[in-house]
Amino acid sequence: MTILLSTLNARYTHASLGLRYLLANMGPLADQTRIQEFVIGAKTSDLVERVLAHAPRIVGFGVYIWNVEETTRLVALLKRVAPQLTIVLGGPEVSHETNEQPIVKLADYVVTGWGDVTFPKLCGEILDGPKPLMKVHAGVQPPMAEIALPYSLYSDEDIAHRTLYVEASRGCPFKCEFCLSSLDKTAWPFPLDAFLAEMESLYARGARLFKFVDRTFNLNVKTSLRIMQFFLDKIEANPDDPVYAHFELVPDHLPEALKESIAKFPPGALQFEIGIQSFNPEVQALVSRRQDNAKAADNIRWLTERSSTHLHVDLIAGLPGEDVASFARGFDQLVGLGAQEIQFGILKRLRGTPIIRHTEPFGMVYDPYPPYTVLATNRIDFPTMQRLVRFARYWDLVANSGRFAHTTRVLLADAPFENFMAFSDWIYTRTDATHRIALEKLAKLVQEWLQLRGMPREEAAALLASDYAGKVDKVDTQAAPKAPAAVAPVRQVRHLAA
Ligand code: SF4
Repeated sequence: MTILLSTLNARYTHASLGLRYLLANMGPLADQTRIQEFVIGAKTSDLVERVLAHAPRIVGFGVYIWNVEETTRLVALLKRVAPQLTIVLGGPEVSHETNEQPIVKLADYVVTGWGDVTFPKLCGEILDGPKPLMKVHAGVQPPMAEIALPYSLYSDEDIAHRTLYVEASRGCPFKCEFCLSSLDKTAWPFPLDAFLAEMESLYARGARLFKFVDRTFNLNVKTSLRIMQFFLDKIEANPDDPVYAHFELVPDHLPEALKESIAKFPPGALQFEIGIQSFNPEVQALVSRRQDNAKAADNIRWLTERSSTHLHVDLIAGLPGEDVASFARGFDQLVGLGAQEIQFGILKRLRGTPIIRHTEPFGMVYDPYPPYTVLATNRIDFPTMQRLVRFARYWDLVANSGRFAHTTRVLLADAPFENFMAFSDWIYTRTDATHRIALEKLAKLVQEWLQLRGMPREEAAALLASDYAGKVDKVDTQAAPKAPAAVAPVRQVRHLAA
């Protein structure tokens, strides 16, 4: 085996679509190429051993924001133990600000941007000459019809145990300055018939959970309708064999035809991720995000009230021009719209994104280490940002987990942001932790907080019991009902899956 394609995924369940694209497009080198996926958190020397066990001549690493530090260590060790090995990097993390990165200094070559054509070509030159002169190779973007689709490379084990990432298009026509996709000029669709044929064969092999990584699935409604009809046909033909599809939508574009199709899906089958990011028009203008807020709100309300879709809506704290009060207003508005999950993210300065132009005027201070989270702005100081970070973590544990659905409504009452922030500040003083809080302990703390806020003990216990079975009955109540099983798949970092 000559060429090894590798990456460190954030979790085992995240099968790398990027590596499978590369393998599918290796042409005559495909027979000599293998994929070896790892998961972050492993011992670097063990990974070195496993890479070298394949005795490759070339190793291509997919480098992302979540694995760049560990991949840097891995490349450094490989270069010491096996200096003859040629290491090629690719992926969004090394596609911008390339030359200043330690991992790039350690590697032999880098392919920036699209690797489908350029990576195999580079490998051919490394193996057969002439030796490539340049270290950094700008990825060539071929016509979409010339890119071999990778879906047959999902193994039976992938299909049985992992999230299957798929894409009907690449790119985005919008220009939100915090997002890497803002550098794309437009969105490029794959030929739809060929794509659907691949989905058909994945379905026939047993795939039931499809996660679309298209940046804006509802951009071309005709295409969206055909893809949704594909899933509707499956559901209608086999109502007892559920299938789940996850899409990212732009919030202010939901024509009637799309609504009609969405309304036909049974509960749990459709999951939408919708980026709002900010409801503040001044902030939107600053980051070049075009969004009709009224339409977006109407559409989210329609989806929560008139469809059975599971909604996951994103907000970003720390954007230039946004203070806590403005963020809180957006948060409260979103809670009022009834989305099942609100992803409260803290701004990250992704390499290559144009948001860097606001650094000085808005006093943006970013962590220099991945994931480059904003630490302070001229509107939100560091201690307050830390409180927001903790809010986001507790929000995930309590609200987004779905384990405390009834209790969350009471916790939030008529001032969601203010009330949850008070809870977040209190729970942090009680635990000094935002991670590794056991569910039983968390339930006890939530109950204690409700009692501190004046709720009688029995009432608080009964409220918790209405959400959470099993352990809470050891706290204060008996015979608590069982919590419903979650249907949503594990999410992945937005826009970086491929
Ligand atoms: S945030 Fe969404 S709409 Fe904006 S550029 Fe990125 S992918 Fe496109």
